Amino acid sequence: MEKREITAMTYDELAAFCKTAGVPSFRAGQIFGWLHQKKVGSFSEMTNLPAQFRDKLNDNYYITSLKIRKKLVSALDDTVKYLYELPDGCCVETVFMRYHHGNSLCISTQVGCKMGCRFCASTIAGFVRNLSAGELLAQITETERDLSLPVDSIVLMGIGEPLDNYDEVVRFLRILSDPRGRGMSLRHLSLSTCGLVDRIDRLAEEAFGLTLSVSLHAPDDETRSEIMPVNRRYPLSELLAACRRYTEKTHRRISFEYALIDGVNDDKKDAEKLAALLHGMLCHVNLIPVNPVAERDYKKSNREKLAAFQAVLQKHGIETTIRRTLGADINAACGQLRRSETVKEANVTCNLPEKVT
Ligand code: SAH
Repeated sequence: MEKREITAMTYDELAAFCKTAGVPSFRAGQIFGWLHQKKVGSFSEMTNLPAQFRDKLNDNYYITSLKIRKKLVSALDDTVKYLYELPDGCCVETVFMRYHHGNSLCISTQVGCKMGCRFCASTIAGFVRNLSAGELLAQITETERDLSLPVDSIVLMGIGEPLDNYDEVVRFLRILSDPRGRGMSLRHLSLSTCGLVDRIDRLAEEAFGLTLSVSLHAPDDETRSEIMPVNRRYPLSELLAACRRYTEKTHRRISFEYALIDGVNDDKKDAEKLAALLHGMLCHVNLIPVNPVAERDYKKSNREKLAAFQAVLQKHGIETTIRRTLGADINAACGQLRRSETVKEANVTCNLPEKVT
């Protein structure tokens, strides 16, 4: 029988397993605590469980562990970037960043991505598979173990589209925030989406209290469809309506991501259009100079253009920040490390077919 991933199980699922195994339900709490508070790597470390039961767990389940395939430490700041190898040999990126308010971890949600954003390195080699909830959690535990530092906040902004892996991401959020485990407040978590409207509506219903980031990157449908194919399915009017519904339901401010690309979306006129689009919304705009990707010819907007763009938004009362670049010397933008490794090692990085539907 194939072993199942125990770190992907909710507390209730563990309790149900204990019941069928004929052990008292408090054992579920013990296992959950070992996995998500003490973060053990093997069943033999769960010393308050009967030995026979530990064997039974070992026969039926595994605790997800990741191998560090590559680790890059920035010489400019304390950013650390990992290329983690998943149990089946696929690789994803995880980035650890230190801020004055605490340590933040950017995790991947899929191996590759289907969304096809033109400026993004994650999408170039296509989509391979979704990550499981246990693999999402393992990126946190392995990083904490390796650095002996705690992760205080999480951003789902690595490789992949989190809302295209909806079920596993929601399962991950439930396990992560369960007070019987790690008990992380989801106020410390941001989820970034390219704008899957029906999933944004579903997420609003879950009432997680997380911060929703929406990758906007253009103020009109023509430009957005050109750089983000998802816009052809969910145009701006539908996306912004969903964002308004999200705020109405959750009372949370939306954070819009806008990567400035020289000559594509960085004119003052674009800033005016963006201000009109966001008028009256409870939101914040995060401006990012686009990170050039080898396969594409997009260039960063210069500092003057960035400042002029920001000034227009501020004139209209829209709160705006310019994202600080961390780990610039270690290819910290999403998908770039995996991409460079995939190019170098061709079929070695993943033993699954490149495209799985
Ligand atoms: N799929 C999700 C999350 C992953 S990408 C999303 O689209 O939001 C995280 C953020 O990085 C997104 O805002 C994405 O648009 C942005 N991004 C991707 N490639 C980039 C690049 N080359 N330069 C700047 N930002 C980039």
